[in-house]
Amino acid sequence: MTQGSEFASRRASMVDYQLVARGIESPLVLEAMGRVAREKFVPKSMQDCAYDDGPLPIGAGQTISQPYVVALMTEALNLQGGEKVLDIGTGSGYAAAVLACIASEVFSMERVPELAERASSTLVSEGFDNVVVRCGDGTLGWPEHQPFDGIVVAAGAPVVPEALKHQLAVGGHLVIPVGSEHSVQSLLRITRLAESEFRTEDFGAVRFVPLLGEQGWS
Ligand code: SAH
Repeated sequence: MTQGSEFASRRASMVDYQLVARGIESPLVLEAMGRVAREKFVPKSMQDCAYDDGPLPIGAGQTISQPYVVALMTEALNLQGGEKVLDIGTGSGYAAAVLACIASEVFSMERVPELAERASSTLVSEGFDNVVVRCGDGTLGWPEHQPFDGIVVAAGAPVVPEALKHQLAVGGHLVIPVGSEHSVQSLLRITRLAESEFRTEDFGAVRFVPLLGEQGWS
């Protein structure tokens, strides 16, 4: 059985060799990735692989994203600390935990009930009291809590859901993979420049499970 100190040293290596070496620079993101115990968010049988350089299965046909991808998406939100963030596709809850180290409030939405329940209890037992997990269709956002300073979507969409764009605060960023359903997508960052003015930037090719829902895949 791997000890806590062994996990801590693997986590520190992950930050150096998978993140810093590939150009992740934000001190807030590196600190958060160095803090969250990823081994607690993967199935017990897979804890030994928790710091591997790739995604891992978490049940219900879903995956926890590669550490680098979580860091890249979090960095793209350009958070300074203290923001309100919407996380679509809670999955294991790992990305929500990383966001919760930086933002002051994280609203996280997952469509599969068993994943939402498990993520919620992992987040509580890991001491994250600034994350709320809800089971529902994240393509519609979370209107009661808008506007969000940042929105991150961990599943690939056919197009950028209008609901999410319109729940961004002016100056806020939406980070979302957009493209074909079963191959690669482009990681896009949409910035709300003004009430009805948006800018789109492309962060390169990524591969995600499909975003299913009213403004996603059917
Ligand atoms: N951020 C996660 C990765 C999850 S993978 C982590 O850190 O572990 C993507 C997740 O998006 C899956 O759990 C999938 O069930 C969920 N998902 C897909 N479509 C969704 C939708 N419309 N609303 C909310 N969650 C969705």
